[in-house]
Amino acid sequence: MIKVVFLGPPGAGKGTQAVRIAQKYGVPHIATGDILRAAVKEGTRLGKLAQSYMDRGELVPDDVIIGIIRERLSQNDVRESGFILDGFPRTLPQAEALDNLLKELGMELDRVIYLNVEDEEIIKRLLARGRADDREDVIRNRLEVYRKQTAPLIAYYSEKGLLSEINGVGNIDEITAKIEEAIGLNG
Ligand code: AMP
Repeated sequence: MIKVVFLGPPGAGKGTQAVRIAQKYGVPHIATGDILRAAVKEGTRLGKLAQSYMDRGELVPDDVIIGIIRERLSQNDVRESGFILDGFPRTLPQAEALDNLLKELGMELDRVIYLNVEDEEIIKRLLARGRADDREDVIRNRLEVYRKQTAPLIAYYSEKGLLSEINGVGNIDEITAKIEEAIGLNG
């Protein structure tokens, strides 16, 4: 059972690393960005609502995202193996909602992995990735939104003694090893 949150700016490598840890330990990888992109592609009501926010690099409203996570965390695979959360929480109200949800489920977070990468490197990486919301103006807005709304979660989890900061620049395997060590999977 592993219950971990990945935190960090867009382009820090959260997705890459979260998938690796999830696959290696057989834990569900829950990425709100992936869930929203799938909904946009399928043209569901959620997708139609989410698209305008995503196109601008703004956050989808908290109640919508919290509803998605509430539903997902109550499924059997999560009860059995835990979860790797990637891209959630992104605001203080989301973090508080997660605390309440976990309490309801009788679960506790093991660790919050904060992947840290500086702005210039982020912009370089995202421009190279070329996703629909990876245009320079949208990237700058996503960084601004990250700084204002998500970065406060670093202190939130640090005060709870849950935060492990890991440098997100360098060799991918070495970063994975550091994450495993922080989660306590190596000892
Ligand atoms: P990501 O794939 O994590 O970079 O997310 C892509 C976009 O989906 C973000 O820029 C937001 O518009 C939206 N999104 C993903 N996760 C969240 C979240 N937890 N809260 C609000 N919006 C989100």
